[in-house]
Amino acid sequence: MPLLEMTQAVLAGRSLPSRAVAISFDDGLASNYHLGFPVLRELGLPATIFLATGFLDGTHPLWFQEVDRAMKARGSSAAELATRLAHLKTLPDALMRGEVRKLVEGCAQAESEVARPMSWEQAREMQAGGLVAFGGHTHTHPVLSRCTPAQQAEEIRVCRDRMTEELGTSPCLFAYTNGGPGDFTSETQELLAAHGFQAAFTMMPARLGAGLPSHALPRYGNPTSVLEAEATASGAFELVKQWRGGGR
Ligand SMILES: [Zn+2]
Repeated sequence: MPLLEMTQAVLAGRSLPSRAVAISFDDGLASNYHLGFPVLRELGLPATIFLATGFLDGTHPLWFQEVDRAMKARGSSAAELATRLAHLKTLPDALMRGEVRKLVEGCAQAESEVARPMSWEQAREMQAGGLVAFGGHTHTHPVLSRCTPAQQAEEIRVCRDRMTEELGTSPCLFAYTNGGPGDFTSETQELLAAHGFQAAFTMMPARLGAGLPSHALPRYGNPTSVLEAEATASGAFELVKQWRGGGR
């Protein structure tokens, strides 16, 4: 199902078809266009792509990609990179940006093919095909709870306005950056509603269902295998969770 249709059904208290699934991608990578779109088209699957608009504009590279490139250029291990990223995500946004600048300084930035943003033209082409819709994902990809309220409002407003300018329609779904329980606040949720976003998605894994808060909806991470995708879509994961919790 298209994510918007699924969201509106859930928020209106309507039940979903059994085994209903919605697909989403975050950030706006060119690979969504080059690799994902042909598969979606072949199978007739709708998807929603959440855009970091400054990434597409070419004005704000994704900061975690910059850290990734700089640390790899310095020979850091995957574990060191993970530790550094986890630390950076805890910092107030301005401080985090300073740390990233220091890391990136003097480092050759070999941009990898798969890390590039899609163009607005590619986004428009996918939208015109009818299968792909777009949602907001901030402008410069900060962790919103690490921003001041004014910065949060600016991130949400600029993201919405750039999408409206480029795609001709205002986004009504949003996905939080990072998406953990501490990565947005009740103020973030209010700001999103005030800017016309009907719902927002976290990365807290659970099934969509009635009675959930519209601006803190759950979402599963990308499955790493077909088996994991099947376990997620069929609800097997949730069964295991309930067994472990001794739940009903
Ligand atoms: Zn993201």
